[in-house]
Amino acid sequence: MSKLKTLINDLVIANRILANEDVVDAYGHVSVRHPDDPSRFFLARSLAPEFITPADIMEFTLDGVPVKKGGPSPYLERFIHGGIFEARPDVVAVVHAHAEDTLPFGLVETPMRPVIHSGSFIGAKVPVWDIADKFGDTNLLVANVEQGQDLAKTLGPNNVALMRGHGFACAARSLIEVVRMSVYLPRNARALSGAKQLGGAVKYLSQGEIDARNRGYSPYSVETWRAWHYWATKAGVGNMVTRPDTKVAVSKKPAKKSKTAKGKKK
Ligand code: MN
Repeated sequence: MSKLKTLINDLVIANRILANEDVVDAYGHVSVRHPDDPSRFFLARSLAPEFITPADIMEFTLDGVPVKKGGPSPYLERFIHGGIFEARPDVVAVVHAHAEDTLPFGLVETPMRPVIHSGSFIGAKVPVWDIADKFGDTNLLVANVEQGQDLAKTLGPNNVALMRGHGFACAARSLIEVVRMSVYLPRNARALSGAKQLGGAVKYLSQGEIDARNRGYSPYSVETWRAWHYWATKAGVGNMVTRPDTKVAVSKKPAKKSKTAKGKKK
């Protein structure tokens, strides 16, 4: 399989995982930068992530214009992705989602910070972007290049920005990382909300602990890859999973994505 085809497959897997893990629903999306042309990125057409196949992936320039004219309708909020890719040459993959557990932290002064080990990758600082600060009364959607750039400015060098009353955007060096971060961000938010409800002082991960987690991280380590393989299989696309070092599909059988499989565990 060509490098590009493998990347498109990984982008499809990322879409399916985010849908299956309830990070996205009908809305929300994930993109990846073109490996040979940093001024372009791949993102699906306007379709719920759960339904996306390789045929639905479109190519865009950083200003959100589809490379192929006359194609299907793109996502309105593609400017989130272009804005971040433009501002952050180090970023390879971007997720935007509305995961409910993250929303309270965009509404109050209480900052989102990592409190669980798997939440460490969101980083010590999670800024909140309020579209109203610069654009006044809008429908809250990131609908043009200027709004995408403004969001990217708030994100700065961080991994995640919350979007007030809307959701979050997160950026990482690979699809595996951005998916992992997007799955654990709402879980970290739940743990933090739960701790706040119990009352008393909250113990956050220290900077030293965050650094120690980052030092031990490698996107294709056995441990990291185990989660990608697990989530993909659970989402019914285990047959699409390849490892970059082997290029061999590891799971020949498509996983049964059935309620019974989930039910059996209980
Ligand atoms: Mn949105």
